[in-house]
Amino acid sequence: MNEQSINKLVIVGGGTAGWMCAALISRLSENSLDIELVESDAIGTVGVGEATIPPIQVFNDLAGVDEQAFLRYTKATIKLAIEFQNWGAIGDRYLHGFGFVGRTVGSIPFQHVFLKGLSEGAAGTISDYSLNNLAAYAGRFNRLAKIEGAPLPGLVYAYHFDAGLYAAFLRKQSEARGVKRREGRIQEVLQDPETGDVAGLRMEDGSDVRGDFFIDCSGFNGLVFDKTLGVDYDDWSEWLLCNRALAVPSSSEPRSLRPYTQSIAHQAGWQWRIPLQHRTGNGHVFCDRFISEDEATRVLLDNLEGEPLKDPLSLRFTPGCRKKLWHRNCVALGLASGFIEPLESTSIHLIQMGITNLLKVFPTKGENSAKAREYNRRMRFEYEAIRDFIILHYHQTSRDDTPFWKHVKEMDIPETLRDKMTSFSESGHLYRVDEELFTEVGWLQVMLGQGLRPKQYNPLADTLCSEDVKEYLKNLRTILGATVAKLQPYPEFLKTCTQ
Ligand SMILES: Cc1cc2nc3c(=O)[nH]c(=O)nc-3n(C[C@H](O)[C@H](O)[C@H](O)COP(=O)(O)OP(=O)(O)OC[C@H]3O[C@@H](n4cnc5c(N)ncnc54)[C@H](O)[C@@H]3O)c2cc1C
Repeated sequence: MNEQSINKLVIVGGGTAGWMCAALISRLSENSLDIELVESDAIGTVGVGEATIPPIQVFNDLAGVDEQAFLRYTKATIKLAIEFQNWGAIGDRYLHGFGFVGRTVGSIPFQHVFLKGLSEGAAGTISDYSLNNLAAYAGRFNRLAKIEGAPLPGLVYAYHFDAGLYAAFLRKQSEARGVKRREGRIQEVLQDPETGDVAGLRMEDGSDVRGDFFIDCSGFNGLVFDKTLGVDYDDWSEWLLCNRALAVPSSSEPRSLRPYTQSIAHQAGWQWRIPLQHRTGNGHVFCDRFISEDEATRVLLDNLEGEPLKDPLSLRFTPGCRKKLWHRNCVALGLASGFIEPLESTSIHLIQMGITNLLKVFPTKGENSAKAREYNRRMRFEYEAIRDFIILHYHQTSRDDTPFWKHVKEMDIPETLRDKMTSFSESGHLYRVDEELFTEVGWLQVMLGQGLRPKQYNPLADTLCSEDVKEYLKNLRTILGATVAKLQPYPEFLKTCTQ
Protein backbone atom coordinates (compact mmCIF):
# COMPACT_ATOMS: atom_id res chain seq x y z
CA MET A 1 0.00 0.00 0.00
CA ASN A 2 1.17 3.52 -0.75
CA GLU A 3 -0.68 6.81 -1.04
CA GLN A 4 -1.45 5.98 -4.68
CA SER A 5 -3.20 2.70 -3.83
CA ILE A 6 -6.93 2.50 -4.20
CA ASN A 7 -8.73 2.10 -0.88
CA LYS A 8 -11.96 0.40 -1.72
CA LEU A 9 -12.77 -2.33 -4.22
CA VAL A 10 -16.40 -3.20 -4.89
CA ILE A 11 -17.32 -6.55 -6.42
CA VAL A 12 -20.72 -6.42 -8.09
CA GLY A 13 -22.15 -9.94 -7.85
CA GLY A 14 -21.39 -13.10 -5.93
CA GLY A 15 -21.42 -16.04 -8.32
CA THR A 16 -18.31 -18.05 -9.15
CA ALA A 17 -16.72 -14.92 -10.63
CA GLY A 18 -17.44 -12.66 -7.67
CA TRP A 19 -16.22 -15.05 -5.00
CA MET A 20 -13.15 -16.18 -6.95
CA CYS A 21 -12.22 -12.52 -7.26
CA ALA A 22 -12.87 -11.81 -3.56
CA ALA A 23 -10.93 -14.90 -2.45
CA LEU A 24 -7.79 -14.23 -4.45
CA ILE A 25 -7.58 -10.48 -4.07
CA SER A 26 -8.27 -10.63 -0.31
CA ARG A 27 -5.53 -13.21 0.14
CA LEU A 28 -2.94 -11.32 -1.87
CA SER A 29 -3.78 -7.85 -0.56
CA GLU A 30 -3.48 -9.00 3.06
CA ASN A 31 -5.99 -6.57 4.52
CA SER A 32 -4.47 -3.54 2.78
CA LEU A 33 -7.57 -3.14 0.64
CA ASP A 34 -11.16 -2.70 1.73
CA ILE A 35 -13.24 -5.19 -0.31
CA GLU A 36 -17.02 -5.28 -0.39
CA LEU A 37 -19.06 -7.77 -2.41
CA VAL A 38 -22.72 -7.15 -3.21
CA GLU A 39 -25.04 -9.97 -4.18
CA SER A 40 -28.72 -10.73 -4.20
CA ASP A 41 -30.10 -13.99 -2.84
CA ALA A 42 -33.38 -13.24 -4.60
CA ILE A 43 -31.65 -13.03 -8.00
CA GLY A 44 -29.29 -15.93 -7.27
CA THR A 45 -26.56 -17.20 -9.58
CA VAL A 46 -26.58 -18.84 -13.00
CA GLY A 47 -26.29 -22.22 -11.26
CA VAL A 48 -24.13 -24.01 -13.84
CA GLY A 49 -20.39 -24.27 -14.45
CA GLU A 50 -19.13 -27.54 -13.07
CA ALA A 51 -16.21 -28.65 -15.24
CA THR A 52 -12.78 -27.07 -15.04
CA ILE A 53 -9.30 -27.37 -16.55
CA PRO A 54 -6.00 -27.97 -14.72
CA PRO A 55 -4.91 -24.33 -14.16
CA ILE A 56 -7.66 -24.16 -11.50
CA GLN A 57 -5.14 -25.89 -9.25
CA VAL A 58 -2.89 -22.85 -9.56
CA PHE A 59 -5.78 -20.60 -8.67
CA ASN A 60 -6.71 -22.69 -5.65
CA ASP A 61 -3.10 -22.71 -4.46
CA LEU A 62 -2.84 -18.94 -4.77
CA ALA A 63 -6.14 -18.53 -2.96
CA GLY A 64 -4.90 -20.75 -0.14
CA VAL A 65 -7.38 -23.56 -0.79
CA ASP A 66 -6.66 -26.91 0.85
CA GLU A 67 -7.33 -29.55 -1.81
CA GLN A 68 -8.80 -32.16 0.49
CA ALA A 69 -11.18 -29.71 2.17
CA PHE A 70 -12.16 -28.39 -1.26
CA LEU A 71 -12.86 -31.87 -2.70
CA ARG A 72 -15.04 -32.74 0.27
CA TYR A 73 -16.94 -29.45 0.48
CA THR A 74 -17.67 -28.98 -3.22
CA LYS A 75 -18.51 -32.68 -3.81
CA ALA A 76 -15.80 -32.65 -6.42
CA THR A 77 -14.55 -35.44 -8.66
CA ILE A 78 -11.49 -35.77 -10.86
CA LYS A 79 -11.35 -34.80 -14.52
CA LEU A 80 -8.59 -36.20 -16.72
CA ALA A 81 -10.08 -35.52 -20.14
CA ILE A 82 -13.17 -34.75 -22.18
CA GLU A 83 -14.68 -37.47 -24.30
CA PHE A 84 -16.26 -36.28 -27.55
CA GLN A 85 -18.88 -38.58 -29.03
CA ASN A 86 -20.42 -38.18 -32.51
CA TRP A 87 -18.42 -35.04 -33.29
CA GLY A 88 -16.16 -35.99 -36.22
CA ALA A 89 -18.72 -38.52 -37.46
CA ILE A 90 -21.71 -40.30 -35.93
CA GLY A 91 -20.44 -43.25 -33.89
CA ASP A 92 -16.97 -41.73 -33.41
CA ARG A 93 -15.49 -41.10 -30.01
CA TYR A 94 -12.20 -39.58 -28.97
CA LEU A 95 -10.61 -38.09 -25.88
CA HIS A 96 -9.03 -34.70 -25.44
CA GLY A 97 -6.87 -35.44 -22.42
CA PHE A 98 -4.87 -33.04 -20.28
CA GLY A 99 -1.14 -33.52 -19.94
CA PHE A 100 1.40 -34.78 -22.41
CA VAL A 101 0.99 -36.84 -25.58
CA GLY A 102 4.09 -38.78 -26.59
CA ARG A 103 7.45 -37.13 -26.38
CA THR A 104 9.59 -35.06 -28.72
CA VAL A 105 12.35 -37.18 -30.26
CA GLY A 106 15.47 -35.02 -30.42
CA SER A 107 14.11 -31.96 -32.15
CA ILE A 108 11.25 -33.76 -33.88
CA PRO A 109 7.84 -32.96 -32.41
CA PHE A 110 5.98 -36.12 -31.45
CA GLN A 111 3.17 -35.76 -33.97
CA HIS A 112 5.60 -36.27 -36.86
CA VAL A 113 6.99 -39.46 -35.32
CA PHE A 114 3.45 -40.62 -34.69
CA LEU A 115 2.34 -39.77 -38.25
CA LYS A 116 5.31 -41.63 -39.70
CA GLY A 117 4.44 -44.63 -37.52
CA LEU A 118 0.82 -44.36 -38.61
CA SER A 119 1.73 -44.32 -42.30
CA GLU A 120 3.82 -47.45 -41.76
CA GLY A 121 1.16 -49.30 -39.74
CA ALA A 122 3.25 -49.08 -36.57
CA ALA A 123 1.14 -46.67 -34.50
CA GLY A 124 -2.10 -47.00 -32.58
CA THR A 125 -4.39 -44.03 -32.01
CA ILE A 126 -3.04 -40.77 -30.63
CA SER A 127 -4.74 -41.58 -27.31
CA ASP A 128 -2.46 -44.59 -26.87
CA TYR A 129 0.38 -42.14 -26.17
CA SER A 130 -1.47 -40.09 -23.56
CA LEU A 131 -1.23 -41.26 -19.96
CA ASN A 132 -4.30 -39.22 -19.09
CA ASN A 133 -6.42 -40.79 -21.81
CA LEU A 134 -5.33 -44.33 -20.99
CA ALA A 135 -6.05 -43.78 -17.29
CA ALA A 136 -9.40 -42.14 -18.12
CA TYR A 137 -10.68 -45.12 -20.10
CA ALA A 138 -9.15 -47.61 -17.67
CA GLY A 139 -11.00 -45.83 -14.82
CA ARG A 140 -7.87 -45.42 -12.70
CA PHE A 141 -6.44 -42.47 -10.86
CA ASN A 142 -4.10 -41.34 -8.19
CA ARG A 143 -1.96 -38.26 -7.84
CA LEU A 144 1.18 -38.92 -9.85
CA ALA A 145 3.65 -36.12 -10.54
CA LYS A 146 5.96 -38.16 -12.80
CA ILE A 147 6.36 -41.62 -14.20
CA GLU A 148 8.86 -43.60 -12.22
CA GLY A 149 11.98 -44.57 -14.15
CA ALA A 150 11.07 -42.61 -17.30
CA PRO A 151 11.60 -38.97 -18.27
CA LEU A 152 7.88 -38.45 -18.53
CA PRO A 153 5.48 -36.37 -16.46
CA GLY A 154 2.58 -38.02 -14.64
CA LEU A 155 -1.15 -37.31 -14.62
CA VAL A 156 -2.53 -33.81 -15.04
CA TYR A 157 -5.99 -33.29 -13.67
CA ALA A 158 -8.77 -30.81 -13.04
CA TYR A 159 -12.08 -31.12 -11.21
CA HIS A 160 -15.79 -31.41 -11.67
CA PHE A 161 -17.49 -29.62 -8.79
CA ASP A 162 -20.74 -28.14 -7.61
CA ALA A 163 -20.40 -24.49 -8.67
CA GLY A 164 -22.72 -23.22 -5.93
CA LEU A 165 -20.68 -25.03 -3.29
CA TYR A 166 -17.42 -23.72 -4.76
CA ALA A 167 -18.71 -20.14 -4.45
CA ALA A 168 -19.86 -20.87 -0.87
CA PHE A 169 -16.44 -22.36 -0.04
CA LEU A 170 -14.62 -19.29 -1.37
CA ARG A 171 -17.09 -17.01 0.41
CA LYS A 172 -16.21 -18.55 3.78
CA GLN A 173 -12.52 -17.99 3.10
CA SER A 174 -13.03 -14.45 1.85
CA GLU A 175 -15.20 -13.38 4.78
CA ALA A 176 -12.66 -14.85 7.18
CA ARG A 177 -10.10 -12.54 5.53
CA GLY A 178 -12.26 -9.48 6.03
CA VAL A 179 -14.27 -9.23 2.79
CA LYS A 180 -17.61 -7.57 3.58
CA ARG A 181 -20.70 -9.04 1.99
CA ARG A 182 -23.74 -6.91 1.32
CA GLU A 183 -26.94 -8.76 0.53
CA GLY A 184 -29.58 -6.98 -1.51
CA ARG A 185 -30.70 -5.96 -4.94
CA ILE A 186 -28.78 -3.22 -6.73
CA GLN A 187 -31.23 -0.77 -8.22
CA GLU A 188 -28.88 1.59 -9.98
CA VAL A 189 -25.21 2.01 -10.76
CA LEU A 190 -24.18 5.60 -9.90
CA GLN A 191 -21.78 7.51 -12.13
CA ASP A 192 -19.70 10.57 -11.38
CA PRO A 193 -21.44 13.30 -13.41
CA GLU A 194 -18.13 14.86 -14.43
CA THR A 195 -15.94 11.90 -15.30
CA GLY A 196 -18.50 9.21 -16.07
CA ASP A 197 -16.61 6.83 -13.79
CA VAL A 198 -18.65 4.55 -11.60
CA ALA A 199 -19.03 6.09 -8.15
CA GLY A 200 -21.22 3.58 -6.38
CA LEU A 201 -24.24 1.31 -6.27
CA ARG A 202 -27.69 2.40 -5.13
CA MET A 203 -29.35 -0.47 -3.29
CA GLU A 204 -33.07 -1.21 -3.28
CA ASP A 205 -33.29 -0.06 0.36
CA GLY A 206 -31.93 3.36 -0.65
CA SER A 207 -28.43 2.90 0.80
CA ASP A 208 -25.30 3.38 -1.32
CA VAL A 209 -22.14 1.29 -1.68
CA ARG A 210 -19.26 3.55 -2.67
CA GLY A 211 -15.87 2.52 -4.02
CA ASP A 212 -12.78 3.47 -6.03
CA PHE A 213 -12.72 0.53 -8.40
CA PHE A 214 -15.53 -1.84 -9.43
CA ILE A 215 -15.49 -5.40 -10.73
CA ASP A 216 -18.61 -6.31 -12.63
CA CYS A 217 -19.44 -9.93 -11.76
CA SER A 218 -23.17 -9.52 -12.22
CA GLY A 219 -23.45 -12.36 -14.73
CA PHE A 220 -25.72 -12.13 -17.76
CA ASN A 221 -27.36 -9.09 -16.09
CA GLY A 222 -24.28 -7.06 -17.02
CA LEU A 223 -25.20 -4.28 -14.58
CA VAL A 224 -22.09 -2.15 -15.03
CA PHE A 225 -20.63 -2.94 -18.45
CA ASP A 226 -23.86 -3.42 -20.35
CA LYS A 227 -26.62 -1.50 -18.60
CA THR A 228 -24.55 1.43 -17.28
CA LEU A 229 -21.42 1.94 -19.34
CA GLY A 230 -22.91 0.49 -22.53
CA VAL A 231 -19.65 -1.19 -23.59
CA ASP A 232 -20.23 -2.81 -26.99
CA TYR A 233 -20.36 -6.56 -27.37
CA ASP A 234 -18.67 -8.56 -30.11
CA ASP A 235 -21.20 -11.13 -31.20
CA TRP A 236 -19.58 -14.35 -32.48
CA SER A 237 -22.82 -16.10 -33.46
CA GLU A 238 -21.72 -16.38 -37.09
CA TRP A 239 -19.18 -19.02 -35.95
CA LEU A 240 -20.63 -20.25 -32.68
CA LEU A 241 -24.25 -20.91 -33.52
CA CYS A 242 -25.43 -22.32 -30.19
CA ASN A 243 -27.36 -19.73 -28.22
CA ARG A 244 -29.40 -21.77 -25.74
CA ALA A 245 -28.78 -24.28 -22.99
CA LEU A 246 -30.89 -26.54 -20.83
CA ALA A 247 -29.34 -27.81 -17.61
CA VAL A 248 -30.63 -30.58 -15.38
CA PRO A 249 -29.05 -32.60 -12.58
CA SER A 250 -29.69 -36.35 -12.45
CA SER A 251 -29.17 -39.02 -9.84
CA SER A 252 -25.68 -40.42 -9.61
CA GLU A 253 -25.21 -43.88 -11.11
CA PRO A 254 -22.06 -45.97 -10.56
CA ARG A 255 -21.48 -46.22 -14.34
CA SER A 256 -21.54 -42.41 -14.61
CA LEU A 257 -18.61 -41.99 -12.25
CA ARG A 258 -16.02 -41.61 -14.97
CA PRO A 259 -12.91 -39.50 -14.40
CA TYR A 260 -13.74 -37.38 -17.45
CA THR A 261 -16.45 -35.13 -18.86
CA GLN A 262 -18.60 -36.39 -21.71
CA SER A 263 -19.66 -34.23 -24.62
CA ILE A 264 -22.13 -35.91 -26.94
CA ALA A 265 -23.04 -34.21 -30.19
CA HIS A 266 -26.71 -34.21 -31.19
CA GLN A 267 -28.58 -32.89 -34.24
CA ALA A 268 -28.20 -29.19 -33.44
CA GLY A 269 -25.78 -28.97 -30.56
CA TRP A 270 -24.35 -31.17 -27.86
CA GLN A 271 -24.91 -32.55 -24.40
CA TRP A 272 -22.62 -32.55 -21.38
CA ARG A 273 -22.43 -35.12 -18.62
CA ILE A 274 -20.44 -34.09 -15.57
CA PRO A 275 -20.28 -36.66 -12.77
CA LEU A 276 -20.07 -35.23 -9.24
CA GLN A 277 -19.94 -37.18 -5.99
CA HIS A 278 -23.66 -36.78 -5.28
CA ARG A 279 -25.25 -36.26 -8.71
CA THR A 280 -24.52 -35.86 -12.39
CA GLY A 281 -24.72 -32.45 -14.04
CA ASN A 282 -26.25 -32.59 -17.53
CA GLY A 283 -27.00 -30.00 -20.12
CA HIS A 284 -27.90 -29.57 -23.75
CA VAL A 285 -26.33 -26.66 -25.61
CA PHE A 286 -28.14 -25.99 -28.88
CA CYS A 287 -29.03 -23.50 -31.57
CA ASP A 288 -32.69 -22.53 -31.51
CA ARG A 289 -32.68 -21.82 -35.26
CA PHE A 290 -32.31 -25.55 -35.84
CA ILE A 291 -34.17 -27.24 -32.97
CA SER A 292 -37.10 -26.20 -30.76
CA GLU A 293 -36.80 -26.01 -26.98
CA ASP A 294 -39.31 -28.86 -26.62
CA GLU A 295 -37.30 -31.11 -28.90
CA ALA A 296 -34.02 -30.11 -27.22
CA THR A 297 -35.58 -30.95 -23.83
CA ARG A 298 -36.66 -34.35 -25.09
CA VAL A 299 -33.17 -35.08 -26.45
CA LEU A 300 -31.63 -34.14 -23.11
CA LEU A 301 -34.04 -36.13 -20.95
CA ASP A 302 -33.81 -39.18 -23.24
CA ASN A 303 -30.05 -39.20 -22.82
CA LEU A 304 -29.70 -39.02 -19.04
CA GLU A 305 -28.04 -41.92 -17.28
CA GLY A 306 -29.99 -41.38 -14.05
CA GLU A 307 -33.32 -39.90 -12.96
CA PRO A 308 -33.78 -36.13 -13.42
CA LEU A 309 -33.75 -34.39 -10.03
CA LYS A 310 -35.40 -31.13 -11.18
CA ASP A 311 -37.07 -29.59 -14.19
CA PRO A 312 -34.52 -28.41 -16.76
CA LEU A 313 -33.29 -24.83 -16.34
CA SER A 314 -33.43 -22.87 -19.59
CA LEU A 315 -30.70 -20.32 -20.41
CA ARG A 316 -30.16 -17.98 -23.35
CA PHE A 317 -26.85 -16.45 -24.34
CA THR A 318 -25.04 -14.63 -27.11
CA PRO A 319 -21.57 -16.05 -27.73
CA GLY A 320 -18.90 -13.38 -27.74
CA CYS A 321 -17.23 -10.87 -25.48
CA ARG A 322 -17.27 -7.20 -24.60
CA LYS A 323 -15.07 -5.02 -26.80
CA LYS A 324 -13.40 -3.76 -23.62
CA LEU A 325 -13.09 -5.75 -20.43
CA TRP A 326 -11.56 -2.85 -18.49
CA HIS A 327 -13.38 0.42 -19.06
CA ARG A 328 -13.10 3.56 -16.90
CA ASN A 329 -12.67 2.39 -13.27
CA CYS A 330 -14.27 -1.01 -13.90
CA VAL A 331 -13.31 -4.51 -15.00
CA ALA A 332 -15.82 -7.15 -16.16
CA LEU A 333 -15.35 -10.77 -15.14
CA GLY A 334 -17.30 -13.96 -15.76
CA LEU A 335 -20.55 -13.89 -17.68
CA ALA A 336 -20.65 -10.07 -17.46
CA SER A 337 -17.54 -10.03 -19.66
CA GLY A 338 -18.69 -12.49 -22.31
CA PHE A 339 -19.44 -16.13 -22.88
CA ILE A 340 -18.06 -18.93 -25.00
CA GLU A 341 -20.04 -22.13 -24.71
CA PRO A 342 -18.68 -24.66 -22.18
CA LEU A 343 -17.44 -27.25 -24.70
CA GLU A 344 -13.88 -27.11 -23.34
CA SER A 345 -14.78 -25.84 -19.84
CA THR A 346 -13.07 -22.50 -20.30
CA SER A 347 -15.32 -19.93 -18.58
CA ILE A 348 -14.07 -20.39 -15.04
CA HIS A 349 -10.56 -20.34 -16.47
CA LEU A 350 -11.28 -16.98 -18.13
CA ILE A 351 -12.35 -15.66 -14.73
CA GLN A 352 -9.05 -16.89 -13.31
CA MET A 353 -7.12 -15.24 -16.17
CA GLY A 354 -9.07 -12.03 -15.65
CA ILE A 355 -8.16 -11.87 -11.98
CA THR A 356 -4.50 -12.81 -12.42
CA ASN A 357 -4.06 -10.39 -15.34
CA LEU A 358 -5.68 -7.65 -13.26
CA LEU A 359 -3.31 -8.36 -10.39
CA LYS A 360 -0.37 -7.81 -12.78
CA VAL A 361 -1.57 -4.29 -13.61
CA PHE A 362 -3.57 -3.47 -10.52
CA PRO A 363 -5.14 0.01 -10.68
CA THR A 364 -3.99 2.94 -8.60
CA LYS A 365 -5.70 6.26 -7.90
CA GLY A 366 -3.80 7.91 -10.74
CA GLU A 367 -3.83 7.35 -14.46
CA ASN A 368 -4.65 3.76 -15.42
CA SER A 369 -5.29 3.94 -19.15
CA ALA A 370 -2.07 2.16 -20.21
CA LYS A 371 -2.86 -0.63 -17.75
CA ALA A 372 -6.40 -0.85 -19.10
CA ARG A 373 -5.11 -1.13 -22.68
CA GLU A 374 -2.70 -3.90 -21.73
CA TYR A 375 -5.40 -5.74 -19.79
CA ASN A 376 -7.83 -5.45 -22.71
CA ARG A 377 -5.22 -6.65 -25.20
CA ARG A 378 -4.35 -9.69 -23.12
CA MET A 379 -7.91 -10.72 -22.26
CA ARG A 380 -9.10 -10.20 -25.81
CA PHE A 381 -6.33 -12.50 -26.97
CA GLU A 382 -7.35 -15.18 -24.43
CA TYR A 383 -10.95 -15.00 -25.56
CA GLU A 384 -10.17 -15.15 -29.27
CA ALA A 385 -7.76 -18.08 -28.96
CA ILE A 386 -10.40 -20.08 -27.06
CA ARG A 387 -13.05 -19.06 -29.59
CA ASP A 388 -10.98 -20.51 -32.45
CA PHE A 389 -10.42 -23.78 -30.62
CA ILE A 390 -14.16 -24.20 -30.00
CA ILE A 391 -15.05 -23.42 -33.62
CA LEU A 392 -12.62 -26.15 -34.72
CA HIS A 393 -14.84 -28.79 -33.06
CA TYR A 394 -17.81 -27.76 -35.17
CA HIS A 395 -16.21 -26.87 -38.46
CA GLN A 396 -13.83 -29.83 -38.80
CA THR A 397 -16.37 -32.60 -39.13
CA SER A 398 -17.53 -35.08 -41.71
CA ARG A 399 -21.08 -34.75 -40.41
CA ASP A 400 -23.67 -33.38 -42.79
CA ASP A 401 -26.65 -35.34 -41.56
CA THR A 402 -28.64 -32.30 -40.35
CA PRO A 403 -28.94 -28.67 -41.53
CA PHE A 404 -27.03 -27.58 -38.41
CA TRP A 405 -23.99 -29.76 -39.16
CA LYS A 406 -24.07 -28.85 -42.86
CA HIS A 407 -24.04 -25.20 -41.89
CA VAL A 408 -21.12 -25.36 -39.46
CA LYS A 409 -19.12 -27.54 -41.81
CA GLU A 410 -19.49 -25.10 -44.67
CA MET A 411 -19.34 -21.77 -42.80
CA ASP A 412 -16.47 -19.30 -43.03
CA ILE A 413 -14.09 -19.38 -40.09
CA PRO A 414 -11.66 -16.82 -38.61
CA GLU A 415 -8.39 -16.52 -40.51
CA THR A 416 -6.40 -17.36 -37.38
CA LEU A 417 -8.13 -20.74 -37.20
CA ARG A 418 -7.93 -21.31 -40.95
CA ASP A 419 -4.14 -20.81 -40.78
CA LYS A 420 -3.74 -23.36 -37.99
CA MET A 421 -5.86 -25.94 -39.77
CA THR A 422 -4.04 -25.43 -43.06
CA SER A 423 -0.65 -25.66 -41.40
CA PHE A 424 -1.58 -28.98 -39.81
CA SER A 425 -3.32 -30.48 -42.82
CA GLU A 426 -0.52 -29.50 -45.23
CA SER A 427 2.48 -30.51 -43.16
CA GLY A 428 1.48 -31.74 -39.71
CA HIS A 429 2.87 -28.51 -38.25
CA LEU A 430 1.29 -27.21 -35.02
CA TYR A 431 1.99 -23.94 -33.29
CA ARG A 432 0.94 -22.10 -30.19
CA VAL A 433 0.70 -18.32 -30.31
CA ASP A 434 1.92 -16.27 -27.35
CA GLU A 435 1.02 -18.69 -24.54
CA GLU A 436 -2.54 -19.17 -25.72
CA LEU A 437 -4.45 -21.54 -23.45
CA PHE A 438 -4.52 -24.68 -25.56
CA THR A 439 -1.15 -26.13 -26.35
CA GLU A 440 -0.05 -28.07 -29.42
CA VAL A 441 -1.11 -31.39 -27.89
CA GLY A 442 -4.62 -30.07 -27.28
CA TRP A 443 -4.92 -28.98 -30.90
CA LEU A 444 -3.39 -32.27 -32.05
CA GLN A 445 -5.91 -34.43 -30.23
CA VAL A 446 -8.92 -32.43 -31.37
CA MET A 447 -7.75 -32.03 -34.97
CA LEU A 448 -7.11 -35.76 -35.32
CA GLY A 449 -10.22 -36.62 -33.32
CA GLN A 450 -12.35 -34.49 -35.63
CA GLY A 451 -10.85 -36.25 -38.63
CA LEU A 452 -8.27 -33.74 -39.88
CA ARG A 453 -5.42 -35.82 -41.34
CA PRO A 454 -2.17 -34.16 -42.43
CA LYS A 455 -1.11 -34.84 -46.03
CA GLN A 456 2.42 -35.39 -44.83
CA TYR A 457 4.66 -35.25 -41.81
CA ASN A 458 7.87 -33.29 -41.48
CA PRO A 459 10.68 -35.00 -43.46
CA LEU A 460 12.83 -34.72 -40.33
CA ALA A 461 10.95 -37.78 -39.07
CA ASP A 462 12.49 -39.75 -41.94
CA THR A 463 15.89 -39.29 -40.33
CA LEU A 464 14.61 -41.95 -37.93
CA CYS A 465 14.53 -45.44 -39.39
CA SER A 466 11.20 -47.26 -39.48
CA GLU A 467 12.31 -49.93 -37.02
CA ASP A 468 13.35 -47.29 -34.48
CA VAL A 469 10.02 -45.49 -34.80
CA LYS A 470 8.17 -48.77 -34.36
CA GLU A 471 10.24 -49.67 -31.31
CA TYR A 472 9.93 -46.20 -29.82
CA LEU A 473 6.14 -46.13 -30.14
CA LYS A 474 5.88 -49.65 -28.75
CA ASN A 475 8.06 -48.82 -25.74
CA LEU A 476 6.06 -45.72 -25.01
CA ARG A 477 2.84 -47.71 -24.96
CA THR A 478 4.41 -50.33 -22.72
CA ILE A 479 5.59 -47.73 -20.21
CA LEU A 480 2.24 -45.93 -20.18
CA GLY A 481 0.27 -49.18 -19.96
CA ALA A 482 2.37 -50.40 -17.03
CA THR A 483 1.95 -47.05 -15.28
CA VAL A 484 -1.82 -47.11 -15.67
CA ALA A 485 -1.99 -50.68 -14.36
CA LYS A 486 -0.39 -49.52 -11.10
CA LEU A 487 -2.89 -46.67 -10.54
CA GLN A 488 -5.69 -47.03 -8.04
CA PRO A 489 -9.18 -47.90 -9.34
CA TYR A 490 -10.96 -44.55 -9.59
CA PRO A 491 -13.93 -45.48 -7.33
CA GLU A 492 -11.43 -46.22 -4.55
CA PHE A 493 -9.77 -42.85 -5.02
CA LEU A 494 -13.17 -41.14 -4.94
CA LYS A 495 -13.87 -42.58 -1.50
CA THR A 496 -10.87 -40.64 -0.19
CA CYS A 497 -12.41 -37.38 -1.51
CA THR A 498 -15.27 -37.56 0.94
CA GLN A 499 -13.01 -37.96 4.00
C1 LIG B 1 -25.04 -23.48 -19.81
C2 LIG B 1 -23.75 -23.10 -19.16
C3 LIG B 1 -22.83 -24.08 -18.79
C4 LIG B 1 -21.60 -23.74 -18.22
N1 LIG B 1 -20.70 -24.70 -17.92
C5 LIG B 1 -19.46 -24.34 -17.51
C6 LIG B 1 -18.45 -25.29 -17.25
O1 LIG B 1 -18.69 -26.50 -17.31
N2 LIG B 1 -17.23 -24.85 -16.90
C7 LIG B 1 -16.95 -23.53 -16.78
O2 LIG B 1 -15.80 -23.18 -16.52
N3 LIG B 1 -17.90 -22.61 -16.94
C8 LIG B 1 -19.13 -22.98 -17.31
N4 LIG B 1 -20.09 -22.03 -17.49
C9 LIG B 1 -19.82 -20.65 -17.15
C10 LIG B 1 -19.95 -20.48 -15.65
O3 LIG B 1 -21.24 -20.86 -15.22
C11 LIG B 1 -19.73 -19.02 -15.30
O4 LIG B 1 -18.56 -18.57 -15.91
C12 LIG B 1 -19.57 -18.86 -13.84
O5 LIG B 1 -20.59 -19.48 -13.16
C13 LIG B 1 -19.50 -17.43 -13.48
O6 LIG B 1 -20.77 -16.87 -13.43
P1 LIG B 1 -20.85 -15.40 -12.90
O7 LIG B 1 -20.33 -15.38 -11.52
O8 LIG B 1 -20.24 -14.51 -13.90
O9 LIG B 1 -22.43 -15.11 -12.92
P2 LIG B 1 -23.59 -15.58 -11.93
O10 LIG B 1 -23.35 -16.91 -11.36
O11 LIG B 1 -24.87 -15.38 -12.68
O12 LIG B 1 -23.55 -14.52 -10.74
C14 LIG B 1 -24.05 -13.22 -10.88
C15 LIG B 1 -24.12 -12.56 -9.52
O13 LIG B 1 -24.55 -11.22 -9.68
C16 LIG B 1 -25.60 -10.96 -8.78
N5 LIG B 1 -26.49 -9.94 -9.33
C17 LIG B 1 -26.93 -9.79 -10.60
N6 LIG B 1 -27.75 -8.73 -10.69
C18 LIG B 1 -27.81 -8.19 -9.45
C19 LIG B 1 -28.51 -7.07 -8.88
N7 LIG B 1 -29.33 -6.29 -9.60
N8 LIG B 1 -28.34 -6.82 -7.57
C20 LIG B 1 -27.52 -7.58 -6.79
N9 LIG B 1 -26.86 -8.65 -7.29
C21 LIG B 1 -27.00 -8.95 -8.60
C22 LIG B 1 -26.30 -12.30 -8.62
O14 LIG B 1 -27.07 -12.37 -7.45
C23 LIG B 1 -25.09 -13.23 -8.57
O15 LIG B 1 -24.58 -13.24 -7.27
C24 LIG B 1 -21.33 -22.38 -18.01
C25 LIG B 1 -22.27 -21.39 -18.32
C26 LIG B 1 -23.46 -21.74 -18.89
C27 LIG B 1 -24.45 -20.66 -19.25
